Amino acid sequence: MADQLTITLPDGSTKELAEGATSYDVAASIGKRLAKDAVAATVDGELVDLHRPLEHDATVAIVTADSEPGREVLRHSASHLMAQAVFDLFPGAKYAIGPAITDGFYYDFELPDGAHFSDSDLERIEARMREIAQEDQPFVRDELDPVAGKALFADQPYKVEIIERVQEQGAAAEDASEVGADGTVGVYRNVHADGSEAYVDLCRGPHVPSTAKIGAFKLTKVAGAYWRGDEKRPMLQRIYGTAWESATALAEHLNRLEEAERRDHRKLGAELDLFSFPEEIGSGLAVFHPKGGIIRKVMEDYSRERHEAGGYDFVNSPHITKRDLFEISGHLDWFADGMYPPMELDGGTEYYLKPMNCPFHILIYRSRTRSYREHPLRLFEFGTVYRYEKSGVVHGLTRVRGMTQDDAHIFCTREQVVPELTRALEFVLGLLRDYGLDDFYLELSTKPPGKAVGTDAEWDEATQALREVGVDAGLELVMDEGGGAFYGPKISVQIRDAIGRTWQMSTIQLDFQLPQRFDLHYTGADNERHRPIMIHRALFGSIERFFAIMLEHYAGAFPFWLAPVQVSLLPVADRHEPYAFRIADRLRSEGYRVEVLDAHADTLGARVRKAKTDKIPYVLVVGDSDAENGTVGVNERGSERPERDVTVDDFVARLAARLIERN
Ligand SMILES: [Zn+2]
Ligand SMILES: [Zn+2]
Repeated sequence: MADQLTITLPDGSTKELAEGATSYDVAASIGKRLAKDAVAATVDGELVDLHRPLEHDATVAIVTADSEPGREVLRHSASHLMAQAVFDLFPGAKYAIGPAITDGFYYDFELPDGAHFSDSDLERIEARMREIAQEDQPFVRDELDPVAGKALFADQPYKVEIIERVQEQGAAAEDASEVGADGTVGVYRNVHADGSEAYVDLCRGPHVPSTAKIGAFKLTKVAGAYWRGDEKRPMLQRIYGTAWESATALAEHLNRLEEAERRDHRKLGAELDLFSFPEEIGSGLAVFHPKGGIIRKVMEDYSRERHEAGGYDFVNSPHITKRDLFEISGHLDWFADGMYPPMELDGGTEYYLKPMNCPFHILIYRSRTRSYREHPLRLFEFGTVYRYEKSGVVHGLTRVRGMTQDDAHIFCTREQVVPELTRALEFVLGLLRDYGLDDFYLELSTKPPGKAVGTDAEWDEATQALREVGVDAGLELVMDEGGGAFYGPKISVQIRDAIGRTWQMSTIQLDFQLPQRFDLHYTGADNERHRPIMIHRALFGSIERFFAIMLEHYAGAFPFWLAPVQVSLLPVADRHEPYAFRIADRLRSEGYRVEVLDAHADTLGARVRKAKTDKIPYVLVVGDSDAENGTVGVNERGSERPERDVTVDDFVARLAARLIERN
């Protein structure tokens, strides 16, 4: 009689199973449905194959394909499936690595004679993958010693290199996860029904039990990728794909991709004539055209208005500074990689472009003695900063090299920290809602290991204060361990946009360090010297990035109050032009942004289409009866049917109401 195993389930209940049982047996003992949906399991926290025998009493959680870890197993397994299909269709191919990535997977190949995959090859490979999936080949695990492993992959140089590197460097090697960290070489085989080998790969696993579990997948593109990301090594062919738990989930994902492409701010920015990145200026440095410029102005004006009402003081600071400032602040120790190299002026003095505004605001605080009565002191600036981003990561307006932050620094006493953080968070959330964003969660970033100044006690106190404020806000709070800046922990507002993507938005950062480094102090009620505490706070992050997020969130159809052109006036014929211009003058005098597309430009139909592709909130068409009766024909964005004979007074009243709703 074999021994029994005691298996603890996530809910704390236990099951007794016979020795030799697997996680699959655990799933089957819970329910048929779960056994069917299972793709892997965690055993005492470690993700393993579903059919791996349980060796001792353990806590077992079944992983299904519709969870993030389940999708990762599914996607990685799909990379094996793809490699098998490639070998079937391209004899002599060499393979390198095939990991799961966010929303998908890839595998890197080298084809004989330097051949490349074409788009039609992707279709063939995908078709072959479907046949292999149907065959339902099991994934069978094996362990070899390194010598046997190298013999098995003798004609696969990349696999041999991986084994050798792990042999030399042990568990710390970059490839340890490909092999198995315990000195053995993990191997997975796919086998045909008759037991013969269909495919073998070097891998630690885990994988889905068999290829039929990989049903909903699609190959998306092929790209070049250097082996180990090293441009001195061979250029391999990388095929990307995605895999999901169901055909519906796959279709939704492909839809999201398409939608994201449709909303790409770089594309919309050009189509709507909002901004550009002229070659002559350089990578990551944008210029805003008049229509983009007006949106920015409206965004900034509203932000200024709210900051004024929120008790902030407005300051300004220069773009460049002597080296000394960033030495005191610590930026040259901790942030030098993100800074542009210095320029030498005045006989050898080094000047830097500023990557941050904080030290400037600190000098304003320090410009005279401060009393406790002045606190909290909230200094605000639209400060333009320059950061060196590698050319590979520069992306549209979301990763730029020059940007303007809506930056504030709040100097407060120790007692004011929690109320000020709370106030700052409420301010930020209120303003984001005004811009039409209302799906948030919070992320709390803690001390970055080995990259932080200050004592653990200071970090603990600051982190605790932020946590308190986050919890009180009643929003979901996610931990980002080690993600803080070098001078303090931060809480950031993450927003979900119209198509469900998340963006890190506003940050609120607590800082005990810079006040020390700059030896800031104020006179307290007790007449003693005290050290203020600083809160760094940016709402948009950068205006450029916020602009891009808004553009994508609204797919270019900005809400009425932000739209660069709010009303487009279309005279039917030349003779209606004077009337159209009179209405335009009236609307402009009331503060609205108006354009007249006159009859010389194009046919009426073409002008209506142009106004629609420009996503203008109101398109007014005026003809004979309008000019006689003081009316307009109104085409509102998003409404199918135009309204006729609306009096100009009624229309103006309607616009005024739109302005108040704000989003
Ligand atoms: Zn694998
Ligand atoms: Zn700052």
